[in-house]
Amino acid sequence: MSDTPLKLLNRVFGYPAFRGQQQAIIEQVAGGGDALVLMPTGGGKSLCYQIPALLREGCAVVVSPLIALMHDQVAALQELGIAAAYLNSSLDGAAAMQVEREFVTGQLKLLYVAPERLLTPRFQSLLEQARLALFAIDEAHCVSQWGHDFRPEYLGLSALHERFPEVPRIALTATADAATRAEIVERLDLHEAQVFAASFDRPNIRYRISEKSDPRRQLLAFLDEHAGEAGIVYCSTRKKVEETAEALVQAGYTALAYHGGMDNDTRRRHQERFLREDGVIMVATLAFGMGIDKPDVRFVAHLDLPRSVEGYYQETGRAGRDGEPAEAWMAWGLQDVVTQRRFIDEGEAEDTHKRIGHAKLDALVGLCEAASCRRVALLSYFGEASQPCGNCDVCLNPPTLWDGTEAAQKLLSTVYRTGQRFGAGHVIDVLLGKTTEKIDRFGHNQLSVFGIGASQSDKVWRAVLRQLVVRGLLEVDHTAYGALKLTQAAKPVLKGEETVMLRAIEARPARKKSRLAP
Ligand code: ADP
Ligand code: ZN
Repeated sequence: MSDTPLKLLNRVFGYPAFRGQQQAIIEQVAGGGDALVLMPTGGGKSLCYQIPALLREGCAVVVSPLIALMHDQVAALQELGIAAAYLNSSLDGAAAMQVEREFVTGQLKLLYVAPERLLTPRFQSLLEQARLALFAIDEAHCVSQWGHDFRPEYLGLSALHERFPEVPRIALTATADAATRAEIVERLDLHEAQVFAASFDRPNIRYRISEKSDPRRQLLAFLDEHAGEAGIVYCSTRKKVEETAEALVQAGYTALAYHGGMDNDTRRRHQERFLREDGVIMVATLAFGMGIDKPDVRFVAHLDLPRSVEGYYQETGRAGRDGEPAEAWMAWGLQDVVTQRRFIDEGEAEDTHKRIGHAKLDALVGLCEAASCRRVALLSYFGEASQPCGNCDVCLNPPTLWDGTEAAQKLLSTVYRTGQRFGAGHVIDVLLGKTTEKIDRFGHNQLSVFGIGASQSDKVWRAVLRQLVVRGLLEVDHTAYGALKLTQAAKPVLKGEETVMLRAIEARPARKKSRLAP
């Protein structure tokens, strides 16, 4: 065939030029090589297998777990005059037979299939009969247990390579941190594949992460910098969505609620208004956002901690799609971490899954606690090296660190002396030397640690405590009403063998919007 990738792009798809690494990826796959493509959503992954499918003889088999997406893609390809079809549970027997016939007789250029169907003996025998251009494995992170969307059927996809070693494969995903990437390579046997990793950086998004003190007031102060702009406020529960939306309306904002418990009609209406009207704030649970294509979302605010860095990246990524300055703002607190840990532990999942859940949360907390550039931390999670960005809260307003070793020792001792049976409030009361009924009742005013922290404020102690918990020196036992307990990691600190550098609580106000970097 004399067509070049660029000619096909122009003539068939009607685009003037390739984006990013598309051309290199297309050449690799069209030339018979394997590729692993890591590209953010909207980066243009589909063309990376659609054009090779047109350049090579035979039919490309595209594995995709999302039926709705399959339908859209096939419809779009047919619109362009490309022989594309799908096989999935939405087809009746006759229609499926028809597609199968077209496939084996070489009338199709692209065939989309769900992974569970691909592995059936029936489909395997079709594969033997057809002429195969390539295999495209979309949403490749589904093969990874570390990934957020594990699908057991994906594990079977390594068989494709064993049975059809000469057919090139391209695996694609938008969410692959370093660990997931390694798992994809391993499980799909893509050791020989060329890796194409697009940058995940969203330079126009400013990241800001604050400690929660008075979340409602903090949110209003943040929104004050975004008057008249469209944005999303994420909350973890339906109740909080409703309350927050109501508070924003009372504060004079055009705010709408969106969550899974609302009827379809209202949800659709709210979504429409968010898309069409200017300056609407959507207060939502995670149910909102997938597939929402609104380029001028100026901010995404989180009133609760997401579950993972991937989640945070996906959600904040809905801001600033138009490339104009946008902000990702989050308020988080110790309670978020405690609640999520309990949620993970009390879930039905297997132990490995729970461990992964905790590790993911740790990574996110690490990002929140970062004393250096947020963007560097975020991108390094995706295996990407970068320089401090100058456009995140830490770069713009570096936190002051102080030697909190003595404070940590005081707090850890107080937890120990009170018997590791009490929660944060009581422990801090003892440190401060307060007179409370509980302190009286347990005789904690007789302890040597009573009042040893009186020179610091309640607020400072809460910040110290939070940092000790997130760093794993203390753990919160939620089977015992949130009692604080020392961990092994606390020992060297208590013995004076280790220093503890802590972040000072933020003092300076956030900068004004007029100083947003481009
Ligand atoms: P992804 O699968 O990575 O999320 P898509 O393949 O759906 O992204 O592409 C996102 C959008 O960008 C689509 O509307 C697609 O047509 C468009 N697109 C992709 N590549 C190009 C290009 N080279 N020039 C112009 N538009 C493109
Ligand atoms: Zn930065």
